[in-house]
Amino acid sequence: MGKVFAVVNNKGGVGKTTITLNLAHSLANKGVSVLVVDLDNQCNATSNFFPTAPDATLYELLDGEGIDPNKCVYPTQYDRVHFLPNTEDSGSLEPELLARDDKGYQLLNQRLRSYAINRFDFTLLDCPPNLGLFSLQAMAAADFVICPVTGGSRYATAGLDKTIRTIKYVQEEVNPNLRFLRLILNQVDRREGVDRAFVAGILEDYEGLVFETMIPRCTAVKQSEALKQTVLRAAPKSAAASKFRKLATELIDLLQE
Ligand code: ADP
Ligand code: MG
Repeated sequence: MGKVFAVVNNKGGVGKTTITLNLAHSLANKGVSVLVVDLDNQCNATSNFFPTAPDATLYELLDGEGIDPNKCVYPTQYDRVHFLPNTEDSGSLEPELLARDDKGYQLLNQRLRSYAINRFDFTLLDCPPNLGLFSLQAMAAADFVICPVTGGSRYATAGLDKTIRTIKYVQEEVNPNLRFLRLILNQVDRREGVDRAFVAGILEDYEGLVFETMIPRCTAVKQSEALKQTVLRAAPKSAAASKFRKLATELIDLLQE
C-alpha cells in the first residue's frame, strides 16, 4: 500500500509547491511511483506540471457525485509521476461543502485515498496557503504531514505554531492515524547569520522533527519554475537538485524505520 503525504503550512511562499514537485520527481527517479495532487486553487503546481487546460480536475472529483479518479489523473513529462490538476473554480466548492453536516472534511479521503494508495507508492498533496477546507481534507486523507518552513523569516514560527495546532485538531477530531512526520527547512542560506540562528532555533524547538536535509536558497529553483520544469530537470547539477535527491533518500529511509 502507498502512503499519502500532506504538504502543509498556512503561510504562502514557504515552498510547499516547490518541494512537492521536486520531491515527486526525485522520488520517481528512485523507481517509485508518485501521484501529485494540486489542492491549491491558485493552481501553481497545475501551471507547472500541466501547461494545457485539463479536461477534468479536482473540481469534478469533489463536485456533486464526483467522477472516477482515473478521469482526472494524468501522466506527466516525468516517468512514474502522475498528476491530479486543479482549477480556480474549485474555490467555489468550499462554502457548499462547509454547509454540509459533515463539512466535507472527508470527501478527498472518500474519493481519492483508496485509489491513490492502491496505485502509487507516494501521493503528495500540495496544499493552499491557509488552513481552510482543502488543507483539512488533505490531512483527513493523509498518513503524514510534511511542513515546509522558510529560513530567516521572523514570522515563520508564528505560522508554524498555528499549523501544528491545526494538525493536532485534525488528529483528535478527524484523522487519528495522521502523523506529523517532519518539518523541512527551505530557502536556507547558511552564510547569513539570521538564517543560522533561525535554523539553530528550529532544530532546538523541534528536535527529532526536522528533516536533516535542508534545501538551500538557490536561483536555479526560480529559473526552473520559469521554465515550468523541476529543478532536477532544468538544473540537475544545482545545489537544490542535489538536496532534493538527498531528501527523497531521507524520506524513503525514514519510512523504513
Ligand atoms: P508555496 O507553495 O508555499 O506558496 P512556492 O513553492 O510557490 O511556495 O515558493 C514560493 C516562491 O519561492 C516561488 O517563486 C519559488 O520559486 C521560490 N522558492 C521556493 N523555494 C526556493 C528555494 N529553495 N530557492 C529559491 N527560491 C525558492
Ligand atoms: Mg503553493
